Amino acid sequence: MKPDNFPKDIQPFIVPQPQGDLFYQCLGCESTYPIKELLYVCPECGQVLLIHNRDFDNLKKIPGKTWQRIFDYRRMLNIPALKGIYRYHEFIGPNIPLNSIIYLGEGHTPVVEANSRLQARSGVRFYYKNDGQNPSASFKDRGMASALSYIKFLVDTGLASNIIAICASTGDTSASAALYASYLSSDIKSAVLLPYKKVTPQQLSQPLGSGARVFEIPGVFDDCMKIVEKLSQEYPVALLNSKNAWRILGQESYAYEIAQDFEYEMQHKVVVVPIGNAGNISAVMNGFLKFYDAGIIDFLPRIIGVQSEHADPVFRYYLEPDKARRVFKPVTVKPSVAQAAMIGNPVSMPRVIAIVNRYNQISGKQNVFFAQVTEQSIMDWSLEANRNGHIACTQGGESLAGLVKSVEQGIVTDQDIAIVDATAHAIKFSGFQDQYFQKAIPHEYKIQSSQDLINEPILVMPENKEKIPAQGSPLSDDDFKLFADDISRSIAKALKLEKNDN
Ligand SMILES: *Cc1c(COP(=O)(O)O)cnc(C)c1O
Ligand SMILES: [Zn+2]
Repeated sequence: MKPDNFPKDIQPFIVPQPQGDLFYQCLGCESTYPIKELLYVCPECGQVLLIHNRDFDNLKKIPGKTWQRIFDYRRMLNIPALKGIYRYHEFIGPNIPLNSIIYLGEGHTPVVEANSRLQARSGVRFYYKNDGQNPSASFKDRGMASALSYIKFLVDTGLASNIIAICASTGDTSASAALYASYLSSDIKSAVLLPYKKVTPQQLSQPLGSGARVFEIPGVFDDCMKIVEKLSQEYPVALLNSKNAWRILGQESYAYEIAQDFEYEMQHKVVVVPIGNAGNISAVMNGFLKFYDAGIIDFLPRIIGVQSEHADPVFRYYLEPDKARRVFKPVTVKPSVAQAAMIGNPVSMPRVIAIVNRYNQISGKQNVFFAQVTEQSIMDWSLEANRNGHIACTQGGESLAGLVKSVEQGIVTDQDIAIVDATAHAIKFSGFQDQYFQKAIPHEYKIQSSQDLINEPILVMPENKEKIPAQGSPLSDDDFKLFADDISRSIAKALKLEKNDN
């Protein structure tokens, strides 16, 4: 719809103008810095940063109900810059003019209710929100759209040029970074560091296809992260990991969309997120806090962060109930099918600690919980979900396994409706599915294949193996008829079909 055709009271707000006064704030010493340059850590103390808006209170002058209408009407716009995460422009990157915004189709991913069979099995009413339906097939595109729009803004205003963007990745960050950078390829080149043989073949193919320089490094993600941190300190590169606070801003859109998807009614809602580097859970909590602060939602949904027992430093940290006695200890990860979350020393841990405190405090009760799940349950729940119409990756399986565990522990009850984050598309991780079906998952994962979930192709051959069609040498009509009779009989037998009477 054209802006002129919107209701009169909405028209002044429908196409946002650049506004706001953003700044970086350090989570350690609380120093603040202007956003004129790309900062990843505090120049004073080295801690991670978050971006805040000094003019946030201006947003509160607009009633929450009006904001709801603005966002609902913006759904009808055909302006590309406002079709993705920047539908919530005022809450994401209000300083960025629309002509610097990059839109590759990210955001507004579907929420798909679990069918009754899956709800019965899991013991809870839930929806998957399929972030695998983003352009590079994971939620990372939300943060990349934000970070690269900001970089484009720097380039457009002459504050930066000839940028080399780099990141370390468990697979999806690099796929996303390479995709967005390739769209801006005259101004930005990308280089990605991957732990050698610790990303799936599909994930490796993505940055290669987008033309990024791809470096494979021995070790695990945590090792690659240290190397890009060193590079970003010593060389003029733009770091695209979630250490970059612009990534967090963009990923807050996941929370805004859930609010909008559920008519802004967040009471008795539970949002389940897998945790790796902990950028996403930080962003999701932050997003709900901002909408709550602006009066757009009346309740903060319960948050459940899920980790595999093979990579569970955040879960372990919160095992200690006494806040004052909690100490963060990185863990050495073991192999996990939730490989994109296989991180022992999450970069965003200081953000998690600060935001969880605030979230619980404002909720007036404990409203953030952490669940630890087995590798077996991750694999089984992702396969189970996908047999019921979903496209959940193994991390999406991890989320569902965490929800089921939370139901068992009474953290989630039958009053609640859960929204479960399927963070990437199943096809990126189909190698784990293949291994499961072939009973070939290496034993250190501690996963047994359950016969009920195994599925394998069946090669159907005719009795007469001399007479089969091949490329370039079709059978004669008569031979093909015999072949087709034979094959269809075999298939009908396997499917236990009875022949029609006529
Ligand atoms: C990156 C990633 C995660 C972990 O998210 P963090 O922000 O690092 O906690 C989970 N699932 C998938 C598919 C990912 O790509
Ligand atoms: Zn500091």
